Amino acid sequence: MPDLISVEQAQRLILERARPLAAERVPIERAAGRVLAEPAVAATDLPPFPSSAMDGFTLRSGDAPGTLPLAGEVAAGRPAAGPLGPGTTLRISTGGAVPAGADAVVPLELVEEQDGAVVFPDAVASGTHVRERGGDIRAGALVLKPGVLLGPAQVAALAAAGVADVHCAKRPRVAILVTGSELRPPGEPLGPGEIYESNALLLAAALQGGGAVPAQLGVVADDLAEHVRALERALLAFDVVVTSGGASVGPHDLVREAQRKLGVEELFWGVSVKPGKPVAFGVRRNHLVFNLPGNPVSVLVTFELFVRPALAALQGASDSLPAFGRGRLTAPIRPNARRHEFVRARAFAESGELRLEPLGGQESHMIVRAAQANALVSVPAGEEELSAGSEARFLPLR
Ligand code: AMP
Ligand code: MG
Repeated sequence: MPDLISVEQAQRLILERARPLAAERVPIERAAGRVLAEPAVAATDLPPFPSSAMDGFTLRSGDAPGTLPLAGEVAAGRPAAGPLGPGTTLRISTGGAVPAGADAVVPLELVEEQDGAVVFPDAVASGTHVRERGGDIRAGALVLKPGVLLGPAQVAALAAAGVADVHCAKRPRVAILVTGSELRPPGEPLGPGEIYESNALLLAAALQGGGAVPAQLGVVADDLAEHVRALERALLAFDVVVTSGGASVGPHDLVREAQRKLGVEELFWGVSVKPGKPVAFGVRRNHLVFNLPGNPVSVLVTFELFVRPALAALQGASDSLPAFGRGRLTAPIRPNARRHEFVRARAFAESGELRLEPLGGQESHMIVRAAQANALVSVPAGEEELSAGSEARFLPLR
């Protein structure tokens, strides 16, 4: 294996090649989880009219204190027929349109109703409990910038501002190709030397969570012709190909050789990371190819470090690299001397602080142990032990 590059160098090489896919129109009902490709602009003032922030009575502020005849009622969606007459008041509900002429609302707890009239005991300032027209945003102004991931608040903001559809980069279509003659589907009996296949499901779930549309292309036996056939099919039809296994240095590791025959340009092979060292990345035209190692925990970690950021970049996200959190270790960690390690850990809150408990069973085949983790603690290569109680950075596992 050649000199290993750093995690950050590998991420840079990937992001240089992961350009946003073409945009398509998406109705906002289906926009959650997508990334905005073009600016979204308000179609209306929000609120569209001055409205009441309280249940109460609306009036001209200059008329209080005083007793005003009740001239009718305004409810949400049922505005007054005309302007408010001077020296009168209207009952108003939260969200009701404050009529022309009125400039304040007094909550009903602060007044006294007498048959046909309302007593306002106190003076009231103009604008009290009135939501200004356009106070949230004005028609024509920017609701959200391109590159924003649309979550619950964002789709709600678009809807409220009258935006019915948006432009988003297409979701990356990703082929999953797992290699290994020893792999059997769960549910079938295991023959001698066989194990259950688990990476395809791991990848499908992770890809879906990263906004991609995964496709299972099945298990490829350790045979060069089969590798070439499966990879060619994947490269023709998908934006991204993710393989697992067969990318190391053994005699049955055929993925990279097959890719060379197919004209895939390899941009790196070998990263200073633990687990996941033999990870490789290449391109053929604008198709990206990730060769993840075979061990399931290596797949979990290299997906987070390398594939997830690529998916975000393909979708045009402005922040495509993973965001680290910080917490305090509950136990010491001895770093690897040469490789940047991502230690599976359980993150939990205690006395208002985030704690990181490194889990037992850190070997790269131990997916059941790793399934207890909700965090990957970043442990840069070095000699000095990270002590219990010291602060560490971590990536949340989603
Ligand atoms: P490889 O890189 O192909 O040598 O695989 C490394 C280790 O991961 C071997 O022990 C494989 O049996 C195991 N492995 C490879 N692919 C999978 C898979 N899809 N599911 C579970 N284990 C796998
Ligand atoms: Mg293999």
